[in-house]
Amino acid sequence: MRKVGIVGEILVEIMAVEPGEGFRSPIALVGPFPSGAPAIFIDQMARFGHPCGLVGCVGEDDFGQLNIDRLRADGVDVSAIRVHERAATGSAFVRYRPDGSRDFVFNIRDSAAGQTTLTAEGRQMIAGCGHLHVMGSTLSAFGLAEAVEEALTIVKGKGGSVSFDPNLRKEILSAPGLTECLGRVLAATDVFLPSGDELFLMTEAKDEMGAARELLDRGVKVVVVKKGAEGAAWYDNERILTAPAFGVTQVDPTGAGDCFGAVLLACWLQGLNPTQALRTANAAGARAVMVKGPMEGAAFRADLEAWMAVH
Ligand code: ATP
Ligand code: MG
Repeated sequence: MRKVGIVGEILVEIMAVEPGEGFRSPIALVGPFPSGAPAIFIDQMARFGHPCGLVGCVGEDDFGQLNIDRLRADGVDVSAIRVHERAATGSAFVRYRPDGSRDFVFNIRDSAAGQTTLTAEGRQMIAGCGHLHVMGSTLSAFGLAEAVEEALTIVKGKGGSVSFDPNLRKEILSAPGLTECLGRVLAATDVFLPSGDELFLMTEAKDEMGAARELLDRGVKVVVVKKGAEGAAWYDNERILTAPAFGVTQVDPTGAGDCFGAVLLACWLQGLNPTQALRTANAAGARAVMVKGPMEGAAFRADLEAWMAVH
């Protein structure tokens, strides 16, 4: 099995217990939870039983140790997680607004996460990977694009494959150099995993089928569109498939896309047929939203299969 590598932000997430307008008065909080989209993704990959590793940076503090302990326990190669001597572990405080949207206070750019570079350990870990997953959040907001692109060059140089979850909002596309960087990553992408309108970030076509076709013509092998409670759709050169989501009660949507992406990708790398891959990834996304905490809903493979058998 091709080992999957990722370069990206490791954070703790601290959540408001009750929905509300923001953080301008003292409220009850719960956390810290291990978090960061790349960390959630790679934890789900490990829990699904696929070999994987993460290049990241945490502080010499409990928030960092919490993440390392969790990822290691689940089977992630943590040899390339640097413990920074001065910077503190990155964090995200989140409060759900009454309308269901999310209100964040981030400490990322000036945290240890913002200091992530491809160290000697990082280069070595990535050189042992046959696949790289790229998160748009890592490219855009936190100044880590250089390290990601270096990893991309290493993996592509060895004939490895690449997946890409844009995980981006249109508002941050104006960051300097980001469009060019996204273009380079997309040109190297085998499996593209947008959600909703992210499909159209880099296409002329503004309808789903047309945009998927355009991306396939540009060399992407598989486009899988994540659609929240509506499930997902798969486009490749032979077929178009759709699969409904599992009917579950959503407790916390954070991490669904990352868990879905990790399982979809593991299935693709392991050669499962697309119908099975979509259904299994939908199950992983559904399990993620049923549990409070960004990566607390990441399912072990045996549990996921047992759950799918009765749903
Ligand atoms: P994220 O907020 O993590 O970035 P995303 O926008 O990338 O999420 P979504 O489309 O929200 O991704 O969710 C990914 C997958 O998780 C969906 O395709 C679906 O399979 C599953 N999922 C998400 N929300 C629900 C839900 N309410 N009920 C059942 N399944 C869900
Ligand atoms: Mg997403």
